[in-house]
Amino acid sequence: MDILVVGGGGREHAICWSLAKSPTADTIYCAPGNAGIGQIATLVPIQVHEFDKLVAFAQDKQVGLVVIGPDDPLAEGIVDAFEAENIPVFGPRKNAAHIEGSKTFMKDLLKKYNIPTAAYEKFDNYDEALAYLHTQPIPVVIKADGLAAGKGVTVAFSREQAESALKDIMVSKVFGDSGSQVVIEEFMEGQEMSILAFVDGEVVRPMAAAQDHKQVYDGDKGPNTGGMGTYSPLPHIANSIIAEAIETIIKPTAKAMVAEGRPFRGILFAGLMITPDNKPKTIEFNARFGDPETQVVLPRLKSDLLEIFLAAVNGTLDQVEIEWSDEAAVCVVLASGGYPASYPKGLTIHGLDQSKDQLIFHAGTARNEAGEWVTNGGRVLGVVGMGPDIASARDKAYQIAEGVTFEGKHCRTDIAAKALV
Ligand code: ATP
Repeated sequence: MDILVVGGGGREHAICWSLAKSPTADTIYCAPGNAGIGQIATLVPIQVHEFDKLVAFAQDKQVGLVVIGPDDPLAEGIVDAFEAENIPVFGPRKNAAHIEGSKTFMKDLLKKYNIPTAAYEKFDNYDEALAYLHTQPIPVVIKADGLAAGKGVTVAFSREQAESALKDIMVSKVFGDSGSQVVIEEFMEGQEMSILAFVDGEVVRPMAAAQDHKQVYDGDKGPNTGGMGTYSPLPHIANSIIAEAIETIIKPTAKAMVAEGRPFRGILFAGLMITPDNKPKTIEFNARFGDPETQVVLPRLKSDLLEIFLAAVNGTLDQVEIEWSDEAAVCVVLASGGYPASYPKGLTIHGLDQSKDQLIFHAGTARNEAGEWVTNGGRVLGVVGMGPDIASARDKAYQIAEGVTFEGKHCRTDIAAKALV
């Protein structure tokens, strides 16, 4: 079967890599993909927002399945566009992707169905929001309603910071329409973890848990990024807490979406806080694979990813085999100097060809005219180490990271360190 994967980052590289292991996968197309993905898939020069062109391509090639990676096209209804032409597609429809696309929708849903999350109020009027903010303790969390590439959330540790975040969102409108509503939320203390699950309606098949590192510098310092590294499993978090999160958060949310007439089919990704009393609470939901969580979760999948996607599309997700390896995986992101602010592109990457037997997912790379690998994004590569435990997987990841160099290369040196103390 031929498959079309939509997207072009490290996550999509990991998805294509995992699909390519399936005995039933023939040609894998990736639109637009990136140079690294081009090593294992046929790149298609169509952007993720060009729905008509993507649908026409899928029809022309008669692909058996389309898989959507990123959040923006899901929120805009890409799945509905493929379904309208009866093309099998894995991902949530627009009305279900709304769980990621609108934080007010997500928070209201959780409140209505008594699913654990931080207390909050939502506002579309600046003066009312400001008045409410004055009644709240610090720290406090200010969130733009819509998608803002991970930048619409401020955890404010002073009143000034909270007020300026609110003003940026509602008065200066730095996130445009994404900030026409705002959520002001109780600050939750604790450890974060992510649980991803394959979901079809009320059927929930959890994946291995993972943990992300969002800030750019060691010790969780500096501005937030798309993610600087991940690891899986989480040996410092009890299985009972993970099980509780699945039973009290993920399954009830899938059920709630069905009850709301928005059945979810795709990857439901819960960002969770484990509070000091060991209770998992929801921070956010995403409607797709995480990046770079996917880069550590899929290498641990022993079963056939294509079969799982097809089972979800065909209504048999409850029956398909989904087995996880006991091995640990650690992903270290190699980023361009300056990221997440401005950074140069086109810098030569050394050591990639020598590392071709290693697990390296490309996020922002290209080939120059001389055929050399060059940087082409903020996050350039995600190198993955595997091993019997987190310590050995981590050593391996950093060993691979050392062998790949480019001018200004930056990576955190403390990925997975929390799992080792
Ligand atoms: P992304 O899309 O990058 O995952 P986002 O914009 O959807 O991010 P959230 O995940 O809701 O935003 O929040 C980003 C980060 O802010 C969280 O990972 C968490 O560290 C912190 N955060 C969010 N809400 C809270 C809260 N109520 N208490 C404490 N920290 C929070």
